[in-house]
Amino acid sequence: MTDYNLVYLLDGKVYINLTNRCTNDCVFCIRSIKDDVVGANLFLNTENVKAEDVIKQLESFKDKLSEEIIFCGYGEPMLKLDVLKQVAQYIKEKYPKTIIRVNTNGHANIVYKRNVLPELKGLVDKFSISLNGENEEVYNTVSQPHIDNAYKAVKDFIKESAAEGFDTTATIVTGYKDYKINMTKCMEITKELGAKFRERPWIENGY
Ligand code: SF4
Repeated sequence: MTDYNLVYLLDGKVYINLTNRCTNDCVFCIRSIKDDVVGANLFLNTENVKAEDVIKQLESFKDKLSEEIIFCGYGEPMLKLDVLKQVAQYIKEKYPKTIIRVNTNGHANIVYKRNVLPELKGLVDKFSISLNGENEEVYNTVSQPHIDNAYKAVKDFIKESAAEGFDTTATIVTGYKDYKINMTKCMEITKELGAKFRERPWIENGY
């Protein structure tokens, strides 16, 4: 693969785009709205993404690799768990000061039918997890998940991530059309789960 769409820059930070697949179909997902994030076309021409392809593209951003690197693209990065682990391992060995963040929908433990978080210790520093709503009804309206009990899975993942010692932030996207989210309730839920909270205003040109 020669296209530089496995790795891209957003606000001066390096992002890794491992897949176009997702277990959600969020109403605000930029995948279904446009085909680029601030000019980077993130549609992959194959789902057969290999760690070596990602690493090759990463190295072309050499001067940025000792800062924070984020797994986040047009799809759910944890669906490519093995590739994510291999790439994170490479980054941690070669650039030990680099912080690694994964932006995720929090479905991984349901998808893999096991708690994958212990496998990511020492590889991932931060999880940013899409809470997306104050209850299951709102969550399902906004996220349109393809799996059952997704909202519970997300809350469990947030709680487990915080308990395992990852720097954990639950996020809410606001400002998309007239979708209303109860921020106060979301903040309360997040606090109970032991995580930090962040509102991500929806922006037209990127996440
Ligand atoms: S979780 Fe992310 S990639 Fe998946 S549909 Fe929602 S916004 Fe898109």
